[in-house]
Amino acid sequence: MSASVTNTVTTAVKTDVALAARDVTYAVPGKVIVDGVSLEIRAGTVVALVGPNGAGKSTLLSLLAGDERPTSGSVLLDGADLHGQRLTHLARKRAVLLQEQKLSFPFAVLGVVRMGRAPWRGRPEEDNDDRVVDQSIETAEVGHLTDRLFPTLSGGEKARVSFARVLAQQTAILMLDEPTAALDIRHQEAVLGHARLAAQAGAAVVVVLHDLSLAAAYADEVVVLADGKLRGHGHPREVFTSELLTAVYRHPIEVLTHPTTGALMVMPVRVPAQP
Ligand code: ADP
Ligand code: MG
Repeated sequence: MSASVTNTVTTAVKTDVALAARDVTYAVPGKVIVDGVSLEIRAGTVVALVGPNGAGKSTLLSLLAGDERPTSGSVLLDGADLHGQRLTHLARKRAVLLQEQKLSFPFAVLGVVRMGRAPWRGRPEEDNDDRVVDQSIETAEVGHLTDRLFPTLSGGEKARVSFARVLAQQTAILMLDEPTAALDIRHQEAVLGHARLAAQAGAAVVVVLHDLSLAAAYADEVVVLADGKLRGHGHPREVFTSELLTAVYRHPIEVLTHPTTGALMVMPVRVPAQP
């Protein structure tokens, strides 16, 4: 009796939790890729997922997206278990930008962005298709590419077109796997700026990043993953310590505060070249 009362209260207090991982493990024969991760991602926040190559970031993202099923544990979307939810329903809830732009079929860019509207076909939201596609193209600054064939684009152009597709999907959850990896500084800042605007408008944004200063600047919370395990989760200033990052990345890392802006600067320690 008392347990059910507690559960009711917990649910009521946490209505802003868009996504929750409950002790999620994902294993393949001979390897545990994601190891007992519990995590809550709230609406209205940008959460940066960081960690070394092979840490399990992309796998965790695909588990949170419902593209992979946990070996054990569960993922809740708006409080309901992801497992068993229909793909069309999921596609109206969360949009995913994959790390690899796998689309090799020669679609024109405009068609790729329009694919983002597919989940809304046959629904009232379909009336917004043209406006939303135009807006997304403008936001991602890919207007000059709309007639180009997607496979002929540069890596950075592909990433921005994929970002436009994800924006066009107009979901309350955005999951972006290294969206800035191929982008120049201006476009990196622009993508993260738009992610933050989406969060301010109420979205939950999970973004995998390698640039820790970028993560500290734009994320409300950071999640550090290494060897499939959660090593830190919280405000960047609390989680990004020299000690933790040096251990996790197996390279000495300094965390500095910008003298005038107070921004967190995360830098690898470099050995000076010998004269
Ligand atoms: P990250 O995105 O953090 O770089 P991934 O989630 O892509 O890491 O992968 C985590 C680790 O699991 C890597 O070592 C990768 O090679 C391995 N891995 C991922 N998927 C499989 C799989 N299906 N079978 C075997 N190993 C896998
Ligand atoms: Mg990855």
